[in-house]
Amino acid sequence: MKMILAELLSIGDELLYGQTLDTNSHWMSVELSKIGVKVIRKTTVGDVDSEILKAFAEAEQRADIVLITGGLGPTSDDLTKPCLATYFQCGMAMNEEALAEVTAFFKSRGRELTELNRLQAMLPTACEKITNPIGTAPGMWFDRGEKIFMSMPGVPHEMKKMMTDRVLPRIQKKFALPIIHHKIIRTIGLGESFLAAKIEAWEKALPPHIKLAYLPSLGEVKLRLTGMGQSYESLRQETDALAETLKERIGQFIYGYGEEPIEVTIGNMLRDRHLTLSIAESCTGGYLSHLITSVPGSSAYFVGSMVPYAYEVKMRQLGVKPEVLEKHGAVSEPTIIEMANIVRAKFNTDIGVATSGIAGPGGATPEKPVGLVWIAYSDKYKTVTRKLQLTQDRSMNIRLASSSVLNLIRQNLP
Ligand code: AMP
Ligand code: MG
Repeated sequence: MKMILAELLSIGDELLYGQTLDTNSHWMSVELSKIGVKVIRKTTVGDVDSEILKAFAEAEQRADIVLITGGLGPTSDDLTKPCLATYFQCGMAMNEEALAEVTAFFKSRGRELTELNRLQAMLPTACEKITNPIGTAPGMWFDRGEKIFMSMPGVPHEMKKMMTDRVLPRIQKKFALPIIHHKIIRTIGLGESFLAAKIEAWEKALPPHIKLAYLPSLGEVKLRLTGMGQSYESLRQETDALAETLKERIGQFIYGYGEEPIEVTIGNMLRDRHLTLSIAESCTGGYLSHLITSVPGSSAYFVGSMVPYAYEVKMRQLGVKPEVLEKHGAVSEPTIIEMANIVRAKFNTDIGVATSGIAGPGGATPEKPVGLVWIAYSDKYKTVTRKLQLTQDRSMNIRLASSSVLNLIRQNLP
């Protein structure tokens, strides 16, 4: 089946100056991929007619569908419409229907139509007008044999309404589109290249219509299987079966599927096992508790936490033995063991976890560099610790340490 290719063209000086973020093309990419259109390129140009015309010609070479946003305002800086007329070698004429619509739009708001707004109903004669029910600039659909050009307003909510109600259905009608199905497999605890080495043979054996992508983020790697075909059900079954065979190779690193982050997985595990959790977090400063409590329903398993940041608080309020702290320091294995065991006992929970480390940039010593973090897990059967050597970046260290604790809980729950 032939893939239908789209190019997204965003027009406006404000996008190039960085004053406005191009959210339109991001949203359009998501929606087009849902209906099986492959976006092959995004281009941004300023309000310069030669640049716009060049971009039209290049996009038409590459893509079947060219979706344009921006440059449709009534003011002289907006050039998309005259450029389209030049490109399609047609004149501009007053579109009576568009004029009636823009007049009604102003009337419904109790305002007089200005000459500038009247000009918004002047359209290139080669286009078919697409109604804009929530704004003044109509959209323009150009049929170019097998290809189409569609020009829409830059204002995001106007573009979205036009795309959803008019443009996407028409694209689906005009083109025979395949089904595209994604399956996301979420892993934690192994870097991208190590993961790739472990699944090399599996990846090589993927059928040609299913592609694999590695999507790394802090401490995690998402594996995305993208299948293309004609039946959603058979793609779903195929990608599910492939994900199942992946378990044999990297099962211990897989914590979930789809959009659910690890704190949701941990929450489900704790709830299913009827276990409760408490936290003593020093270097993560509450971030771990924030992750846990950002999950709705976390009160079923999360009892509470303490942030014993200062030495004194670790000793007096939490109850770490002074001799342990004095002999080994706050960032040490004996201290982290105490912290996890004590918080579990104090809060009377099944599980206790703890963090203590040098988040940076200050506070390092020759033996204890920035990024050194101890974490621990404690239940009634065992206490498990990990020594992490993280990064030079404070915020990354806080996030990485927190996700490492979540992984430690996942690996050790009874
Ligand atoms: P225009 O159609 O050029 O008059 O654009 C109207 C407004 O829409 C601009 O002032 C921008 O704030 C916004 N806009 C234009 N293009 C984009 C885009 N690609 N993403 C998000 N907002 C946009
Ligand atoms: Mg503009």
